[in-house]
Amino acid sequence: GAAVDISRLSKTYEVREDDDVVALDGIDLQFEPGSFVAVVGPSGCGKSTLLSLMAGLTGITTGTIAIDGETISKPHPKIGVVFQSDLLLYWRTVLDNILLPIEIKKLDIARYRVRAEELLTQVGLEGFGNKYPSELSGGMRQRVAICRALIQEPGLLLMDEPFGALDALTREQMIMDLQAMWLKAGNTVLFITHGIDEAVFLADRVLVMSPRPGRIDLDLKIDMPRP
Ligand code: ADP
Ligand code: ADP
Repeated sequence: GAAVDISRLSKTYEVREDDDVVALDGIDLQFEPGSFVAVVGPSGCGKSTLLSLMAGLTGITTGTIAIDGETISKPHPKIGVVFQSDLLLYWRTVLDNILLPIEIKKLDIARYRVRAEELLTQVGLEGFGNKYPSELSGGMRQRVAICRALIQEPGLLLMDEPFGALDALTREQMIMDLQAMWLKAGNTVLFITHGIDEAVFLADRVLVMSPRPGRIDLDLKIDMPRP
C-alpha cells in the first residue's frame, strides 16, 4: 500500500462573495502503508471533500497531499476511487467498464484483460465479463466498480459510502468481501461511511470529523482481530 501524508490541508468553496464555505480547515494526517482508515461524521462535515482532494478531482485551497512522497494535484493511476453510485457505462459490457481507465490512458488492453478477469473472479463474478450492467444487481454492479478502481493496482483506494445504496443483507456480504480483498491486495484504504459499525469492523483506524466543518475531532485506533 501507499503512504499518505496530508499537511495543513484546507478547502474553501467560493459560493458567493462574502459567503465562502470552509469545508476543510487545516487538516494534518498520515496514513501508514496498508492501513484501512474509515471516516465518519455528520453530513456536511467535509468527508467527501477530503476524498475528492485526495483523488485529485477538486482543487486544493492550501496545503499538500503526498502519496508515496509524490504531491497530488490531479487524478493519478496510484489512486482508485469508488463512489456510492457505481457510475458504470450501461452501453459497455462489465469487462469493457473495468478496462475503461486502461483504454483512456491508451495502455495495452490485452495485457490488462487477464487482470480484469482475475479481479472479477476475486469478487465472485467469474464469467460475468460479457454481461451488461443492467443484467446485474446493485451489489454486483458495485463489485464491478471496485474492480474498475483496482485495475491499475492503485496503492491507495478511496471509497465514498460505497455500500450506501445497497440493502442491508447485500451490504453485509460486501463488507466481508471487501475485507477479504483488502487483506489480499494490501492497499491503503480511505473509507467514508455513515455506519459506525461498518467503520469499526473494517478499519484499523477511525477518524471522526466535527459537525463544525472541516476538522478531525477524534482519531481512534481499532484493534480488531483479523481473520
Ligand atoms: P454527501 O453528504 O453524501 O457527502 P452531499 O449531498 O453533501 O454528499 O453532496 C453531494 C454533491 O453535491 C457533492 O458533489 C458535493 O460536492 C456537492 N455539494 C454539496 N454541497 C454543495 C453546495 N452547497 N453547493 C454546491 N455543491 C454542493
Ligand atoms: P460530507 O461529505 O461530510 O457530507 P462535504 O465534503 O460534501 O461533506 O461538504 C462539506 C461542506 O462543503 C458542506 O458545507 C457542503 O455544503 C460544502 N460543499 C461541498 N461541495 C461543495 C461545492 N461543490 N460547492 C460549494 N459548497 C460545497
